[in-house]
Amino acid sequence: MRIDEILSKKRTLSFEVFPPKKGAEELDKLLRTIDALKALSPDFISVTCGAGGSNAKNVVQIADYIQNGAGINALAHITGGPSAPADVDAAAKALRQKGIENVLCLRGDRPVGYEADYCRYFPHATDLAEYLAPYGFTLGAACYPEGHPECESLYADLVNMKKKEKAGAKFFITQLFYDNSYYYRLVGEARRIGIAAPIIPGIMPLVNPKNIRRIKEMCGSAIPLEFRNMIEIYASRSAVMEEIGYNYAVYQIIDLIAKGAPGIHLYVMNNARTAQEICSRIGRVLHELF
Ligand code: FAD
Repeated sequence: MRIDEILSKKRTLSFEVFPPKKGAEELDKLLRTIDALKALSPDFISVTCGAGGSNAKNVVQIADYIQNGAGINALAHITGGPSAPADVDAAAKALRQKGIENVLCLRGDRPVGYEADYCRYFPHATDLAEYLAPYGFTLGAACYPEGHPECESLYADLVNMKKKEKAGAKFFITQLFYDNSYYYRLVGEARRIGIAAPIIPGIMPLVNPKNIRRIKEMCGSAIPLEFRNMIEIYASRSAVMEEIGYNYAVYQIIDLIAKGAPGIHLYVMNNARTAQEICSRIGRVLHELF
C-alpha cells in the first residue's frame, strides 16, 4: 500500500533497518529481526541504501522480504549522488518487479574521498525524484529539523525541502533529533512556506553514551542539557542508561503525538529489542492514537 494513502487515513508506526555489511549469516539475522518487528504491526519498514547505491542489490532483496515475505509495506531507499542513471534504473526496475511501491529518494551521504566527483549525475534528491517519476513510486524524502549540515541557512534548507515536494515527495521523514522544539519549528516554518506533505519525526533512542559524540558528528543533533546530564551521571551503568534512553524516547514520542505528529519512525539499527522496548512502553498510545 502507498504510504501517502496510509498517512491520509491514520498515524503511522515505522521502523528503519540497514543492509548488513557482512555475509549470509548477518543477512539471515536481519530477516529474523524483520520477523520480530512484524509482531509490532508497523505500517511500513524502511531499508537504507549505501551512498551511490553501493548495496542496491541487498536493498532490493531485503525490501522484497519485508513486502512479500513478512507482508509489511516496504519503503526502499534509493540514493543518487554518484550513481549512474543506469544503476538507478536497475534498482528501480528490480523494486518494481518485486511490487515495491514506496521509495525514499535521497542524495546520500558523501563517502570520504568522493568529494570532487560526488554529485555528477544526481546532485540532489530533487534530481533523483524527477528521474524516478516515470516509475510511478510513491516518493518520500528526508528533512532536517536542525538544518542539513551543508546548508547555508535553515531558510535555504526549507526552500530546498519545498523543491523536494515539487519534485514529487509525498511525505518526509526527519533526521533524528532529541529536542522536539526543532521538529515543531520545522513543521511550523514548512507550513508557512506552503509545504503540505506529512512530516514524520524520526526517533532514535539513545541508550549507549558512547554514541553521543557520533550522533553529534554525523547528524548535528543537539542533546538537551537535562538529558545530557542524566547520561553523564549514569554513563557507566548500562542498565540504568538503557532505562533512561528508552524513557526519554517515550517522552519525545508522547509529546510529538499529543502535538499532532502524523506518525513515528524509529531508527532501530537492526535491533528488534529497541522497537519492542518502545512499543511495550506506549502500548495504549499505539492502540488508541495510531
Ligand atoms: P539533498 O536533498 O540533496 O540535500 C543536501 C543539501 O543540498 C542540503 O543542504 C539541501 O538544503 C541542499 N539541496 C537540496 N535540494 C537542493 C536543490 N534542488 N538545489 C540546491 N540545493 C539543494 N544516507 C544514505 O547514504 N543512505 C540512506 O539510506 C539514507 N537514509 C536517510 C533517511 C533519512 C530519513 C534521513 C533524514 C537521512 C538519510 N540519509 C541516508 C542521509 C542523507 O543521505 C544525508 O543527510 C545527505 O547528506 C543528504 O541527503 P538528502 O537526500 O537530504 O540530500
